Amino acid sequence: MNYTADIAVLGGGASGLIAAITAKRLNPNLSVYIFEALDRVGKKLITTGNGRCNITNLNLDFSRFHGENSSFCEHAFNRFGYEEIRAFFYTVGVDFVNEGDKVYPASLQAASVVDALRFECDRIGVNTVLGCKIEDISLGKEYTLKSNNCTVKARALILCTGLLSGGDKVGSFGNVFRLLKNRGFKTVRVSPSLVQLKTETDYVKQLKGIKATAKATLLCGKKVVCSFTDEVLFCDYGLSGPAILQISRQSARDERGYTVSLDFYPDTEVFELTNRIKERAKLLHHRSLEEFFVGSINKRLAQVVLKYCGYKLSDSVASLNDSDYTKIAEALKSFEFKVLSNTGFLNSQVSAGGISTDEFDSKTLMSRSHKNLFAAGEILDIDGDCGGFNLSWAWASGAMAAESAVNSL
Ligand SMILES: Cc1cc2nc3c(=O)[nH]c(=O)nc-3n(C[C@H](O)[C@H](O)[C@H](O)COP(=O)(O)OP(=O)(O)OC[C@H]3O[C@@H](n4cnc5c(N)ncnc54)[C@H](O)[C@@H]3O)c2cc1C
Repeated sequence: MNYTADIAVLGGGASGLIAAITAKRLNPNLSVYIFEALDRVGKKLITTGNGRCNITNLNLDFSRFHGENSSFCEHAFNRFGYEEIRAFFYTVGVDFVNEGDKVYPASLQAASVVDALRFECDRIGVNTVLGCKIEDISLGKEYTLKSNNCTVKARALILCTGLLSGGDKVGSFGNVFRLLKNRGFKTVRVSPSLVQLKTETDYVKQLKGIKATAKATLLCGKKVVCSFTDEVLFCDYGLSGPAILQISRQSARDERGYTVSLDFYPDTEVFELTNRIKERAKLLHHRSLEEFFVGSINKRLAQVVLKYCGYKLSDSVASLNDSDYTKIAEALKSFEFKVLSNTGFLNSQVSAGGISTDEFDSKTLMSRSHKNLFAAGEILDIDGDCGGFNLSWAWASGAMAAESAVNSL
């Protein structure tokens, strides 16, 4: 099949769907096409937020975005911030609810977000071509895209193909990124982010399946890289849960050797916790260490922390002295795990790195070297924290690229 488009949007994910709708709404006379590799649009979007889609965040603070030049995203958010995202989704029938700063569709169904975007594409006349994986792009005065079953000629091209997170099943092929890299586009090394960490397993294996709220800190040597307080899940390979995903980014960026430290009492100072343990020991001196923390923290977690401190669980609480109380308090506030690696792109929520933002103008998202070539979403070297920031970037950049494309034609 041959197609001719005024605007070709490559990729029918989050940024591609909003880009196509925005372009068509701004100028209904333009022919706008989405070319999507998979048999449906929005396959990744359906999986977001555990099927609930954490669609955006009430507080789109720029410090929550990363990349070699993270301030690149500011123009897009100044133009298309939380209020504009909310207003856009209102027009396609998606109401918002929030849990703290995290915002979800009121249906709490990610699939409903995809449906609403799909319905709007159909209503306004965006053409969607499915099962069309673009394998080649000619960058000239106009753009020629080729898949094994179609050729597309377009006056403007918006690249919305994402990167590697989530794997092929959700369309994260990364082939368009590689294609541009081979064409000489400057790129920034790609690594998984918002990903589970593989650690030394002596202690995590014994805690497999336990969830605990903790302040998780990523350390490089003694230097604190970042911290986040939320749930941590112990797995046989290492650590997972929201707190770990949030601090995972830097440990996958280089080989410097990182440690995760867990603080199960982030609001309590060591001396205060020491005193509490001392009082508890006086009260429960008849118990063995195996039972010491029963009723206070997770039994197995307490036992493993005590083993980590070097105690035998059969020892009596009465055998502890002042330095032991401090030692236990310190371990409960800094239970450390050496990071070995991570669970990879397949299990990550976002890819850090991508096409360098130097290649694009932050005010328009147009390529600096190719007129009417635009990029949006994860393919660019911008990634966000957990909490709706990555979809927010997809919405803001997709809408802005589309607006610029329409203005430029
Ligand atoms: C499990 C999971 C949960 C997540 N949860 C959240 C969340 O709750 N909140 C949040 O903010 N972020 C979340 N994210 C991140 C968020 O989904 C992504 O950052 C966002 O979807 C990126 O949008 P995008 O448009 O750049 O790429 P994508 O949404 O990945 O879309 C890219 C599209 O391009 C298509 N494509 C790729 N290559 C080609 C090609 N060669 N030819 C044609 N089509 C192609 C793909 O099939 C895909 O449909 C989650 C990610 C994962 C993996």
